[in-house]
Amino acid sequence: MEISFEKEIQQLRLGTGDTFHGEGILAITKALLESGVAYIGGYQGAPVSHLLDVMVQAKDLVGELGVHVEACSNEASAAAMLGASIHYPLRGAVTWKSIVGTNVAADALANLSSPGVTGGVLMVIGEDYGEGASVVQERTHAYAMKSGMILLDPRPDLQNMVDMVKHAFAMSEASNMPAMMELRIRACHLRGSFVCSDNRKPAISAQSPLAEPAGFDYGRLAHPPSTFRHEKLKVEQRMPAARDYLVAHQLNELRDGRHAHIGIIVQGGVSPALLRALQEFGVADAFGHSDVPLLILNVTYPLAHAQIADFAAGKEALLVVEEGSPEYIEHEISSVLRRSGLSTALHGKDMMPATGELNPEAMLQGLAQFFEQHLTAVDVAPVRSQLQATLARRQQLAALLQRAPTAPAPSTAAPALPARPPGFCIGCPERPVFSALKQVQAEVGPLHIAADIGCHSFATFEPFSMGHSILGYGMSLASRAGVSPMMQRRVVSIMGDGGFWHNGLLTGVQSALFNRDDAVLLIFKNGYTSATGTQDIISTPGKQHKHSALDKTASLTASDRTIEDTLAGIGVQWLRTVHSYRVSTMRRVLREALTTDFRGLKVIVAEGECQLERQRRIRPWLEALLARNERVVRVKYGVDDDVCNGDHACMRLSGCPTLTLKDNPDPLKVDPVATVNDGCVGCGLCGENAHAATLCPSFYRAEVIRNPRWRERVVDALRRVALRMLRPA
Ligand code: SF4
Ligand code: SF4
Repeated sequence: MEISFEKEIQQLRLGTGDTFHGEGILAITKALLESGVAYIGGYQGAPVSHLLDVMVQAKDLVGELGVHVEACSNEASAAAMLGASIHYPLRGAVTWKSIVGTNVAADALANLSSPGVTGGVLMVIGEDYGEGASVVQERTHAYAMKSGMILLDPRPDLQNMVDMVKHAFAMSEASNMPAMMELRIRACHLRGSFVCSDNRKPAISAQSPLAEPAGFDYGRLAHPPSTFRHEKLKVEQRMPAARDYLVAHQLNELRDGRHAHIGIIVQGGVSPALLRALQEFGVADAFGHSDVPLLILNVTYPLAHAQIADFAAGKEALLVVEEGSPEYIEHEISSVLRRSGLSTALHGKDMMPATGELNPEAMLQGLAQFFEQHLTAVDVAPVRSQLQATLARRQQLAALLQRAPTAPAPSTAAPALPARPPGFCIGCPERPVFSALKQVQAEVGPLHIAADIGCHSFATFEPFSMGHSILGYGMSLASRAGVSPMMQRRVVSIMGDGGFWHNGLLTGVQSALFNRDDAVLLIFKNGYTSATGTQDIISTPGKQHKHSALDKTASLTASDRTIEDTLAGIGVQWLRTVHSYRVSTMRRVLREALTTDFRGLKVIVAEGECQLERQRRIRPWLEALLARNERVVRVKYGVDDDVCNGDHACMRLSGCPTLTLKDNPDPLKVDPVATVNDGCVGCGLCGENAHAATLCPSFYRAEVIRNPRWRERVVDALRRVALRMLRPA
C-alpha cells in the first residue's frame, strides 16, 4: 500500500489532556491503545479498514507499547486470534466489515463465546448497512443474540465512542462475554474531538511475555461436556453480569422530556438522525434536547430488562426506532412489557420503515403516525406537506432525467433515477480481461460466469454485464460446482488474488482438484486486495522491489510467483499466466481453456498491477524526475475524428471513462465520434481492442515527452515543417 498514515499515527501518540481532532474510526483506534490492548488483528473492509491500515504502519508506536498487530488472512483467522483471551488476562481487539466478515468469522466466534473470555475482547465491526453499503443487507445483531456476545451501538460522538470502547473491555471482563461494537459508515467517517488519556502498556505483552502457559482446563474447551455448562453460564451468569454492568455504569442514556406519557427507545447509532427528525416536529433542538423522553441504547444487546420496564412504566406508548429487519430489539421489548404486566402500547416496525437506512427523512413518516396517535398536541401537518413536496420534487427530477425531448410526459408513478454504479479505475488491468471474455463469447457462445467479490465485480455493470452469481468472497469456484455439471459449455469462475488467499484456495481450488472437476478459473493477480483499499497480501512483491527506481515502469505482479507456485504445488496441471493488457492473447487462452480436451481444473492467471496503486507508486517518482528537469514520457491514446465512424464499438468493449463521446466535427455527419480525454493513462487497451476485435483504425498512440532530448527536439521541428508544407495553402 502506497498511502502513508504518518499524520494519523502522530494523533495516536497524544497523551492525557491533549485534544484529539479527527475521524471516528481513528478515535476508536486511539481508544484501543488507551484501553491497554495487548493484540490487534483484523481483516480490512469498509468502513473500518483505516483502523488496521494505520496500526500496520504504526510499527514504532506499537513496538514501544508492546502491542502485537496482525493483518489476518480473513475474518475467521482474526476471530480465532481472540482465543488468546480465553485463558489469559489479555485485552484484544479485532476488526472487520459486517455482515460478510462476521459470517466468515462465525465459527470461531461461536467457539470463543462458548467458553467465554478472561481478558476483555472487542470486535470493531463496520456495519455496512444502508446508503453507500456494498454488501448484503443483514444485521450483526443476530450474531450477538445467537452466540451470547455484547453488542454496542454507540451514539456517534467521539467522546462517547471512546468511552464506550473502554466500557466494552470492562464489561467483557465483568461478564466473560466477547463484545462487538457496530459502527455505521457515517460513525466511522464522522469528524470530531475528544480529550485523550495516555496510551496504556499492557501488563502482558510482546515486551513482557508470560513465563508459563495457563494450566490445562478442560472446562475452557468448546467441547462436550463443557459446552453444556457454557450454555448455562451464558444465561445464568454472564448475561446478568453484563446487564448489571451496563446499568451500574449508565451506558444507556436516559433523557427526560416534558411529554412524559410517551417515549422513544432508539439505537445509539441512529439517535442523531432521530433527533434531527424530531426537530422537524418542533419537539427537539439542535443540541440534542428532546421534549419526548428518550432511551438511547449505546448497548443494544443484552438489553437491561428492568431498565426498559422502568422507562415504559406509566407511559401510554413507546416507539422503538430500530434500523433494519428483523426487529430484534422491538421483539425483546415486547416480551419485557408483557412479562412486566405493563399495558404500554408498543410501536416500531408497524410505523417505521422495515428496511433501509433510517435517515431523518425515512423517520418522518413513522414519527408523524406515532404523534397522530399519541401526541396530538404536535401538529404533524407541516411535516406531512413537507414529505409530499419532497416526493413531488423527486418525481419531477426523475421525470426530467429520464425524459428525452420527444418522449411523452411521465406517468404519476416515480420512475427510478438513473443508477450511477461504480466502475473500474481508468487503466485498470481487469477491464482488458473482460474485453477478451466478451470477445471469446462471440466465438464460443454465451457462458455462465460465477463472479466474486472484488474490483472485478465491476464487470457486472455495463458495458460487460457479466456474472450470474456472487456467493461470497473467494467463493466463485466453489459456487460453480453445482452449475458446471449441468452446462454444455464450461463455466468460468472469476476470482481476485485477494479472494484467492482469503478463501478461494481452499473452498474452490482444493475442492475442484479433489473432485476432479472440469472447471475454468480466472484469477486476477493485481498484487493487492484492491477493493478494500489496496492492502498488501502474501503475493504482493516486496517493498524493496517497489521502491527501486529501476522498477517503476515494470509490472510488479510479474515479479511474484506465489500464486502460480501454490497452484502448481497443490496439483493444478493446466496453468497459464497472461499479461492482462494482451487482449488477443487472453482471448486465445480463454478459448483454449473453454475448448481443450483436458478435463480438470484449468487456471488462467491474469497478471497486471492495480492501476490505482501503480499511479500512486509512480507519481512521486515522476514528480521527482520533472523537478530535476529529466525526461519523462507519458503515453496517451487518441481517436482520429476523420476516421471514427461513430459506431462506438470501442466503448462497448472497454467502458473506460476517458474513452467518451464528442460532437462530430464533420457538419455532414450526425453521429457523435469517440474521443479520449485527458484522463487517459495510456494503458493500451484501446489499441489492443482495436487490434483484437478488428475495429476501425481510428486509434492512435501518442507520446507526450517532457524535457525531450536534443535529438527529439530536432525531429519534432522537422516534423512540424513537413506538416506545414503538406497543409493546403
Ligand atoms: S483499484 Fe485497482 S484493481 Fe480496482 S478498479 Fe482500480 S485499478 Fe482496478
Ligand atoms: S488507453 Fe484507452 S482504455 Fe487505456 S486509459 Fe486510455 S482511453 Fe482508457
